[in-house]
Amino acid sequence: MQAEPQAFDRVLSSMCTDPHPDARDAAERFLATNPGDPATYQRVADLEDEAVALLGEVAGLADPAGYVASGGTEANVQAVRIARERADSPRPNVVVSEAAHFSFQKAADVLEVELRLVPTDGDHCADLEAVRASVDSDTALVVGVAGTTEYGRVDPIPELGEIADSVGALLHVDAAWGGFVLPFTDYEWGFDHAPVDTMAIDPHKMGRAAVPAGGLLARSESLLDELAVDTPYLESTAQATLTGTRSGAGVASAVAAMRTLWPAGYREQYLRSQRNAEWLADALEKRGYEVVDPTLPLVAASVPRPTFEALRAEGWRISRTATGELRVVCMPHVTREMLASFVADLDRLEVR
Ligand code: PLP
Repeated sequence: MQAEPQAFDRVLSSMCTDPHPDARDAAERFLATNPGDPATYQRVADLEDEAVALLGEVAGLADPAGYVASGGTEANVQAVRIARERADSPRPNVVVSEAAHFSFQKAADVLEVELRLVPTDGDHCADLEAVRASVDSDTALVVGVAGTTEYGRVDPIPELGEIADSVGALLHVDAAWGGFVLPFTDYEWGFDHAPVDTMAIDPHKMGRAAVPAGGLLARSESLLDELAVDTPYLESTAQATLTGTRSGAGVASAVAAMRTLWPAGYREQYLRSQRNAEWLADALEKRGYEVVDPTLPLVAASVPRPTFEALRAEGWRISRTATGELRVVCMPHVTREMLASFVADLDRLEVR
């Protein structure tokens, strides 16, 4: 018997979503292609060039370098690797806030660089004074997160760029989740707002592509060259990706989603998600919970553990922040009806 795939009707914690129908079709058609071997699989290699160009458009970069990665983790690991290769230090360090995704911990482990975690300010963003105090001549990379995993916060990217510049470090922006909503906000997050060198921006999150479709962007080809290794048995001569054989499904579906949705469809999707987040925040506040203001479509609230467990037992796929708040990500599959039904269950199951 075939297993049923995941239904999305109670999923409130995932940063992935139901792919757009065009993305789903494209993924299926390109399932048996490998962009890791571009001389053999030329059609998907061309599509990858288009994916990078489109991602550049989303992120404010006219002539981008990059590739479609397996996800934000790979893009972040590779950004740290580029910075390490560029660094003029035997003991390079990377400065990120505590709110950064745990993929930076993995990057530091595998690349043997020192990870300097700095605290966040009262609004869950990187504390600039702490960042200033942490950088030194061994700093290879300063990271800003544009849409944090737990609270959807955007670090002050231009200021982080100035700090990176003051010590000759690169600036990486992790917009893995936020990248497809931020173009419709006033945040200064993109290549056109700050001296960003590299960026993680994932089509398989808010971009509505099929998994796996992450994005690594670099301001110049020479940054990407830091990753290139020779590929003797392939027709092409060098490879910058971390994985070898890769899924063409992710590449093709990323292009299909972006062709269909950029920019009007993503704008409409952002506005709906943001309105849903504000509706939920309001409903939770009215019930006496402490709510972290959803500046992007992500709501965190102080729902006590027994209530949280009761909701999970009811089938709601929800998660908690490191400090124990309920976390709801208003992805495109999250409808107002779903949230209303969730709040009704909360009222019914609440343990005070
Ligand atoms: N960066 C951010 C801000 C994220 O929220 C996530 C995942 O949620 C990642 C990176 C890692 O992405 P992936 O799970 O696609 O590797």
